[in-house]
Amino acid sequence: MSDAVTLRARWVVPVEGPAIENGAVRIERGLITAVGRAGAVSGSGRVEDLGDVMVVPGFVNAHTHLELGCYAGRIAPQPFWDWIERLIALRRESGSGERERASIAAGARMSLEAGVTCVGDISRSGWSAAALRGIPIRRVCFVELISGAPTPPGDPDELIEAVNAAEEAADELTTVGVSPHAFYSVSWNDLRRTVAIAAEADRPITMHVAETAEEIEWLTGGGGRVENFLTRYGLANASAAIRGGYVELLHRVLMTRLRPLLAHANYTSDEELRMLAETRCGVAYCPRAHVYFGHAGHRWREMLSAGINVCVGTDSLASNSSLSILDELRVMRRENAGFPAAELLEIGTIRGARALGIEESCGSLVVGKSADMVAMQLDGNTGKNAVESLFEETSFVRSVWVAGRSIVRDGIYDAQNATM
Ligand SMILES: [Zn+2]
Repeated sequence: MSDAVTLRARWVVPVEGPAIENGAVRIERGLITAVGRAGAVSGSGRVEDLGDVMVVPGFVNAHTHLELGCYAGRIAPQPFWDWIERLIALRRESGSGERERASIAAGARMSLEAGVTCVGDISRSGWSAAALRGIPIRRVCFVELISGAPTPPGDPDELIEAVNAAEEAADELTTVGVSPHAFYSVSWNDLRRTVAIAAEADRPITMHVAETAEEIEWLTGGGGRVENFLTRYGLANASAAIRGGYVELLHRVLMTRLRPLLAHANYTSDEELRMLAETRCGVAYCPRAHVYFGHAGHRWREMLSAGINVCVGTDSLASNSSLSILDELRVMRRENAGFPAAELLEIGTIRGARALGIEESCGSLVVGKSADMVAMQLDGNTGKNAVESLFEETSFVRSVWVAGRSIVRDGIYDAQNATM
């Protein structure tokens, strides 16, 4: 356990509360016990001056699949339905299981070096919790269900087994959640049971929704590319009964009661946006994966204005070039000149924590929360609008702490220190 330490920095940006010039954060037993002007934060123990850096909450990657890291660079940018067939073929190659498992730990280390201290990680095999054991990254490990999948979990009983196995491997940084993959790949009965499984143990739940135009076409009328895909992979019968607008379906299956995290929601109509705003669903927008698949523009700004909790994810390295949330936020900033930097930082931190249901522990630098933080090296004069400079291409991650422990120093994951 860490001793008491007071970290001073040129800037401390708590996210909940204004940026503090010449600020300090006090950490005791892994928790934040004071945040404020350097002169006002005192106590026993060590004092470390981090110098000309900006300390911000660790970034939260609300939607990723670390296990797909071994397919980085293997599939060129292309429409989703072509991509997924290519991905399935790669996942069926011999030795892929071991490679995927190794990708989970490697992805966690890459994430930490990118300043991501928390991931919402979806795992098809449910391996995530075991593979991340001993790696000091906060995570919600979502076990994914596809009805009738050739490898488990392919039904709710197998899902329960995989969840129990994940719980056995979980440590204090782990929350185990469930992820019915999508409306087109999970049967209605399995969806209902998955919702009940989540509700019973108050587990986080996430699902891919409205990711493609073809999915909407299939949900509202049937047929088309999705039907063709399901038929060819032997999944057609499972989801035949599911038809309707996606928000209506989330209501019908009682998922909206659980504050689910919806991945993508790329094709959301005016009516659905209005309906979504009346729920407590979060939306994980994946900016670079969005471009990779060539989707039409995302309505995240309208969603935010409507009061929807929008956060960001990288999706996997099979459709993205890094696991850095800062890289995602930089793209959003480039494409949305004038969007406030402070709000962008919220999207990459506290909103992600809220969407994953763990905002009591992380997402902002507030007394009582875990000291999950990043020190960003900024280039030159930060001036009046300090948070803006965080998104400059020249700023980079210098140090990272999770639960008060120093995990990354000078940009490098320190395995020795990081071993739990
Ligand atoms: Zn995904």
